[in-house]
Amino acid sequence: MAGSAIERPAMNRRVLLAKRPTGLPDASCFSFDEQPVPELGEGEVLIEVDHLSIDPFIRTSLNADSYHTPVAVGAPITALGVGRIIESRAPGLAPGDGVFGPLGIQTISRLPGGIVKKVDEQRAPLTAYLGVLGLTSGMTSYFGVREVGAVVPGNTVVVSGAAGAVGSLAGQIARIEGGRVIGIAGGPAKVDYVERELGLDACIDYKNEDVGARLRELAPEGVDVYFDNVGGELLDVLLDQIRERARVVICGAISQYQDMNNVRGPSLYLRLAERHARMEGFAVTHFGAQFAEAEAQLASWLEQGKLTLREHIEYGIDRFPIALRTLFDGGHIGKLLLCPGRAAK
Ligand code: NAP
Repeated sequence: MAGSAIERPAMNRRVLLAKRPTGLPDASCFSFDEQPVPELGEGEVLIEVDHLSIDPFIRTSLNADSYHTPVAVGAPITALGVGRIIESRAPGLAPGDGVFGPLGIQTISRLPGGIVKKVDEQRAPLTAYLGVLGLTSGMTSYFGVREVGAVVPGNTVVVSGAAGAVGSLAGQIARIEGGRVIGIAGGPAKVDYVERELGLDACIDYKNEDVGARLRELAPEGVDVYFDNVGGELLDVLLDQIRERARVVICGAISQYQDMNNVRGPSLYLRLAERHARMEGFAVTHFGAQFAEAEAQLASWLEQGKLTLREHIEYGIDRFPIALRTLFDGGHIGKLLLCPGRAAK
């Protein structure tokens, strides 16, 4: 609970990069170590890590030439997370405060106070700051739908990766904005989640259905906005069905992240010229000036019951390699989290 003191642990358990992966990383790519919990310098805080956000950028940061700051071999794995302050030598941060920041895959994090953000637990529980209100989930969806996709009432919107963290929220936000929203996800359980729990208008099971044919049935007039989380072949299927003045939002391309030196681009990009359409990518960090506005709006929708997001939590730091694989093999619904300090229930 906020405000209550946490006992200072003696040791910090961490996950390190043992070797650079080729393809989907397995357990041999990682090692674990234990270090004494360090003393704080002036301006620093000590944080007990509560939950970590298992994000696709963790995989790409394992490459030597990553767009995100690459993790060196032998170094701790980078990750965003939420936690609770154990000790503080930073102004404005006190023991018991809940915080969000680049905590890393470890049980205890020591960071400069200036790079963590105190969160308002009256507004939402800690894990919501990785999910609905999270930088790499809610915020990403918010800016992708509103600023890049510019969804307006009556638009037909398609979201890929629709049962994942970004996709779940992008689909719901596009509906709030007045869109008719069709999700794409893998398998019947995810289709059920998207249609029943998230309330999207329809969901196509790309693992068992012909996406192009189903889309022609569901959206015979074509697609106004495609929010793409997946890339690869699916992007071509969608480009073939965009309408005049469509917006194709390149949020991510998870189908391509295991081999970033051989990314497959769309062959049907000339549909953009034929239909006076545009394709635009973004990183959530480009919208820093609007983070406070986005968080307030997302929190308000959460409070009004307009947004929901399931959580899939892996327990215990030893589960990190499994959690990372789960992100790519379709084994979770909603937001994927790792709770490093607690063993499996
Ligand atoms: P997520 O959707 O919760 O999990 C990833 C999902 O992708 C999996 O559950 C799986 O669902 C699907 N998937 C994996 N490999 C696939 C493939 N080869 N083809 C089709 N689907 C595949 O992950 P997330 O954290 O929300 O991230 C979603 C996307 O947002 C990623 O592309 C990520 O890079 C992007 N992102 C962008 C920004 C930004 O600033 N632009 C920020 C954060 C995230 P199925 O079972 O349905 O296949």
